[in-house]
Amino acid sequence: MTVKLVAALDQGTTSTRCMLFDRQGRMVSIAQREHQQYYPHPGWVEHDAAEIWSIVRRIIPQALADAGVGAAEVVALGVTNQRETAVLWNRHTGVPVGRAIVWQDTRTTDVLADLATRIDPARVLARTGLPMANYFSAAKLRWMLDRNPAAAAAAAAGDLLFGTIDSWITWNLSGGPGRDGGGPGVHVTDVTNASRTMLMNLDTLDWDPELLAATAIPRAVLPEIRPTIGVVARTVDPVPGIAIGALIGDQQASLFGQTAFEAGEAKCTFGTGSFLLLNTGPEVIRSSHGLITTVAHKVAGEPAVYALEGSVAQAGGLVQWCRDNLGLIRSPAEIETLARSVPDNGGCYLVPAFSGLFAPYWDNMAQGVLVGLTSYVTKAHIARAVLEATAWQTHDVVDAMNADAGVAARSLAVDGGMTSDNLLMQTIADVLDIPVVRPMMAETVALGAAYAAGLAVGYWSDRQVLRRFWRKAGEWQPSMTAARREVELARWKHAVAAAQLWGQ
Ligand code: ADP
Repeated sequence: MTVKLVAALDQGTTSTRCMLFDRQGRMVSIAQREHQQYYPHPGWVEHDAAEIWSIVRRIIPQALADAGVGAAEVVALGVTNQRETAVLWNRHTGVPVGRAIVWQDTRTTDVLADLATRIDPARVLARTGLPMANYFSAAKLRWMLDRNPAAAAAAAAGDLLFGTIDSWITWNLSGGPGRDGGGPGVHVTDVTNASRTMLMNLDTLDWDPELLAATAIPRAVLPEIRPTIGVVARTVDPVPGIAIGALIGDQQASLFGQTAFEAGEAKCTFGTGSFLLLNTGPEVIRSSHGLITTVAHKVAGEPAVYALEGSVAQAGGLVQWCRDNLGLIRSPAEIETLARSVPDNGGCYLVPAFSGLFAPYWDNMAQGVLVGLTSYVTKAHIARAVLEATAWQTHDVVDAMNADAGVAARSLAVDGGMTSDNLLMQTIADVLDIPVVRPMMAETVALGAAYAAGLAVGYWSDRQVLRRFWRKAGEWQPSMTAARREVELARWKHAVAAAQLWGQ
């Protein structure tokens, strides 16, 4: 009997992975490659969309070859991606217009200030669930068009296509500008990705005419919004004939991969940034404490499921910065070894507001600060402050989530690359004062995309089957005294205030 598998393509901020999973949700093969980060000016972060596509073309065949299967054995492919990152490309040639502007990029503060003169930010929040921040795609696209009149004219004439990374990859996978005599690729996105553009109305799940008018973004450049789970096309390139069964933003994918299908279930992923999502079911719940409202997923023909999200821009990204910009460590794992060489932070605190501050502060202007320095402080204390920064930022979003929900979370389910750091996991349990639980399968983003694509084609009969695959790998219990937590929290809040003051 031939083995049938399901594929996931996870296009992340730092790397792209293709994984194959079997019917028990076990990973059978993985192919992965990093792409280049471009930082041309302070606050700017760019990717080369053409490089990302060339990596996708390489790793899909590699993952299939490693598993010893061909396209006929792959029942479906789920695409999951870094969210908000904006790509503009020529529909006739497939060539991107400039580099993609990444979600962490802060160049659009002026675009947003100008937009605020044309539409009340409270109205934007009510329509999209989002505060007006650099983070979301609309201002990035507006910036691309403003800086390039030829592109603006081409966009208005229908020659350019815009998309988040899911759209860019799906368009290319399904034929691009029309390869080998085939038709052009499909220009689509899904509700989870569209909900990050600041252009989609959360109630209608369509592009909002008032927001399109206020941002002067031509509808012709935008993709069609599809449900998350449902076949959108078949691949043409690099391996023909695989059903593209799901498109889903990476954080929504990990919520799905953690099998947090029901209202009240949550997870927090620690990768480049960190993202806490709480499934709120079919209701659009508005936050009063600085969280955003987003779409968790939508099955074709069923109502959408929504989520509250606490997004943090810098978590593992700060660890990479310590490696690449400071030379403090040679690999991310070394941050734990260095931090463990001292018992505490020595009085120093680091607020990594490199992209302003996201949830729950939403301060576009805040800048990073390292405070509390004395001649006593060593690089080991700074390594502690680096890990504690992720823990305290998590504390702030969990606090907001608890306040919105009216009940305190009893535990935190975690995943992502940073969860291999045991000191960090312990610190998070300490500052939150609740247990932290990690599943066996840390690659929940890819797993969630595979689950979604598999469900779309009936590889799994229903989502309850998937719950059985969740296995606990680790659990950390809080061990910090309440008095110590209070002192540390007060210092952290002072440091956050300093970051906000510095940016003014
Ligand atoms: P993404 O999907 O955003 O690319 P991943 O989930 O692959 O991110 O996680 C990678 C991130 O985790 C990197 O930013 C890296 O610095 C961080 N990281 C990896 N291992 C560790 C570790 N042992 N301690 C702290 N951070 C780590």
